[in-house]
Order: sequence, then C-alpha cells, then structure tokens
Amino acid sequence: MHKKNLKTICTLLAILPSTALFAALPQNSLRPGGIAILPIQNNVQDIYYQKHRVLTTEENGQKYAVVGIPLSTPLGTSDVETNQGNIPIQIQSYPYAEQHIQLKNTSFVEPSSEQLARYKKEAEAQNNIYTSFTQNTWHTFPNFIAPTQGKFSNSFGRKRFFNNEERAPHSGLDIPAPVGQKVIAPADGTVVGIGNYFFNGNTILIDHGQGLISMFCHLSKIEVHQGQIVHQGEEIGKVGKTGRVTGPHLHWGMSLNDARVDPQLFLK
Ligand SMILES: [Zn+2]
Repeated sequence: MHKKNLKTICTLLAILPSTALFAALPQNSLRPGGIAILPIQNNVQDIYYQKHRVLTTEENGQKYAVVGIPLSTPLGTSDVETNQGNIPIQIQSYPYAEQHIQLKNTSFVEPSSEQLARYKKEAEAQNNIYTSFTQNTWHTFPNFIAPTQGKFSNSFGRKRFFNNEERAPHSGLDIPAPVGQKVIAPADGTVVGIGNYFFNGNTILIDHGQGLISMFCHLSKIEVHQGQIVHQGEEIGKVGKTGRVTGPHLHWGMSLNDARVDPQLFLK
C-alpha cells in the first residue's frame, strides 16, 4: 500500500513543472545543491535526509516535504527516510561552472595555524546554526525576495580552484553590488548569528524555521542584533567587501536540512 503511494509520488516528481504549481514553494530541482519537493500523505512523519530532519509544509491542503540536497550528494538514487518507508529521489548532474582564482594574499590560501583555529571555531558556530531545527512561525512556505539589487553572477555550485588548488564548491550566490548598498531580509525570520568571520567577513544568519537558514556575507555594516526578529524587506545591513573577496558583493547563502542549496530556487 505505502510502496504503491511512494511509486506514485516518484512518477509525479518526474513530470513536475518548476514553479507553476506552487505559489510559495521553492523550485523542484533534483541535483546536488538543489531541492526536492515531495508531495506526501498526512501520515508521513519523521522525515530525514542524510541524517538531517526535513522541513514540511502545506500548500492547498497538500502536505509537502521540502528537502535540501547537499552539493556533495552523489548522482543517482538516494533515499529520503520516513516513518512510512523510504522515498527514493533521482539526483541528476548539473553543469556547474569552474573558477580559477589567483590570490595574492596567500594567508587565505594557506592560513596560519592561528587562523585555522579561528576558522574552525567559526565553522563550528555556523554548523550549530545550520543543524538547528526550530519551530516555524509561518503556515505556508515563506515567500522569498532578492536580498539586494544587482545581476546574479550564477555562481552557486561553482567548482573553485585557488592558486590551482581545488577547494569546496561555492555554496552561495554572489550578487556584485557597490559598498553601502542596502541588504534586506528576503523573508521573515530571526537573527541567529552575527560575526566577523575570517573567510566570510561581516556575516548575518537568519533562521526562517525548520532548518531553513539564510546567510549574508562580506557586509560593510550589520544593522541587526542577535535574536532580533526581522520582516521581509527590512534593512539588515550594507553590501561590503570584508573577508575573502576579490571585490564588493553580497554572498547570499541558503541552507535547508544542513544542505547549502541554490538561492535562486527560492525566487519566482
Ligand atoms: Zn560568494
């Protein structure tokens, strides 16, 4: 019985259009760094993907699991676990770009042990936020808008080489913009992290509930405080070039069940 339902879900997924069906849900995109939108029965609970609890929401009386797919996910079949059995999803390849950067400031390429210790501490603080799962204040999935003005550089997922050494793929979207341009909250949420980080510079993290976190880096100015509740469109800071950057821009990251996913999937 349940197996049959799951099969129906998979068939449905294969023919899902990107946004048309769902007013507020992000786009369905089955790739590393993408999002799986799974219509589920009401009795499907305890949903986990790669050991992380998954966000659920409702749209027009239908329940959905909204699953972030980490950039490190291998291609092929992978399972979303539930109390009613596994839901297999098919992860497809995506033509992410490659970027080769020559950095003059080698302290960013080969950080000192002191800098590494600092980075480790910062990464830990950010990981604690990414792996948190708080109650949402919304009923249907929150609508998102771009956090600042500018042309997207389509940089999410880019494979990066610094001075010919391969590094982790780019986990956010860069929006080139002048220093001082305002940055706004893309959706309602709570400020759960503020810091001046070694790589990310001045950074704000906003919790939108159920493991959905947004991140804004390299800011010249932070205009919110820890624990502050922010509303969509409210100014939170200014674009800058703090941290490891080659020029002023906003780095916008989105995380779902501890998976960094393409922020563009949240925009209409
Ligand atoms: Zn970036």
